[in-house]
Amino acid sequence: MPGGLIYLDNAATSWPKPPQVAEAMCEFLLHKAGNPGRGGHALARAASETIEQVRGLLARLVNAENEQRIVLTHGCTDSVNTAIHGIFRGPMCHMCGGRPHAVASAVEHNAVLRTLHSYQEQGVLDLSIVPCGEDGLIDAEDFLAACHEKTLLACLSHASNVLGTIEPVEEIGPRLRERSPRALFLVDAAQTAGHVRVDVQACSIDLLALAGHKGLLGPTGTGALYVGRRAFPDDLSLPQLYCERRGGTGAIAPGLEMPATLPDALEAGTMNAVGFAGLIAAMEALPRMDHERERRHTGRIVNALQVMRGVRLYGLRTGQRRTPSIAFNIGDLHARAVAAALDERFGIAVRGGVHCAPMLHQVIGTGERGAIRVSPGPSNTEGEIETFLEAVDAVASRGL
Ligand code: PMP
Repeated sequence: MPGGLIYLDNAATSWPKPPQVAEAMCEFLLHKAGNPGRGGHALARAASETIEQVRGLLARLVNAENEQRIVLTHGCTDSVNTAIHGIFRGPMCHMCGGRPHAVASAVEHNAVLRTLHSYQEQGVLDLSIVPCGEDGLIDAEDFLAACHEKTLLACLSHASNVLGTIEPVEEIGPRLRERSPRALFLVDAAQTAGHVRVDVQACSIDLLALAGHKGLLGPTGTGALYVGRRAFPDDLSLPQLYCERRGGTGAIAPGLEMPATLPDALEAGTMNAVGFAGLIAAMEALPRMDHERERRHTGRIVNALQVMRGVRLYGLRTGQRRTPSIAFNIGDLHARAVAAALDERFGIAVRGGVHCAPMLHQVIGTGERGAIRVSPGPSNTEGEIETFLEAVDAVASRGL
């Protein structure tokens, strides 16, 4: 890697990207960079084709019913906000009669927690948080038991961004409507897309939020929201997800109303088409990346850290049923100080602190000092992982 950097912060954003990503983005800027959907000239058509191609790839990735159900966004936070505001700012909010109820788990990222919290503060909804154990695992029965007939939204992270624990989405989704006929199931797949297969139809997911810049290996500023039939019926018979953001969509829409159909109804403004050109290249390269190696690295780090003197490993003790995201602390050192030392003294990039999942940090007892998160990617070598482990051992035995 350039400058000898050992990059182990793939859960924040993956790096390095496959070389085809930068090439495709340059190619787009040089030869295709019109405004997608606006204008019939060659450059605008080329940009539109890029957008339609990425929609198709993402639809196949998650097994969406059709490409129109993939709404392109600027990242997973944008996707989650589009989903939650779309429910609670619009007519859907009244579907249960009285104040609606939402359920979220203790592993959620702030993209979900802060957005729901703002509505709870305003008295718009009642919120239940489903607790998790120290392994970060949500019990499917507990999650379902928290849902009832007033539940309008049930949110679950597909995997914890701190501990990497994969949650039982496939168990919960198909059973959710028995308890909550109106509930929409929102799954935050920021940490799993590209790592773990997700099938929105098999898991009865209504809203799936994705980031393009993590496991899918695309550039920052790319993401998507899958919108299922219950959140946006084809025949518009029931209230649909509301879009507060208004503006041009490129569709033939002469009036002052937003287009009524997907994806345009939720996609006002110019897309990050250059970013999506990069994401297409990344997704095409993805099957050729060595994901087995990434899993081996995860197993090696988990096994080594749990027996290393002075190190406290959090979460699952195995490399199974998890994404490549591992949290630990050294003695009573502050996580940020350790991350800074690994960066400055060893050229190793990890993340230290509270990782936007405040409730989970309370559960594992790291609410104040946070934890160090190490997240290997498909390009890391065995040698880099050993260098990282030696560096942790050096800090654990000799201090900062
Ligand atoms: N949810 C989870 C679980 C995440 O890990 C992240 C990224 N840290 C997000 C949401 C936000 O994603 P983005 O950075 O694409 O906005």
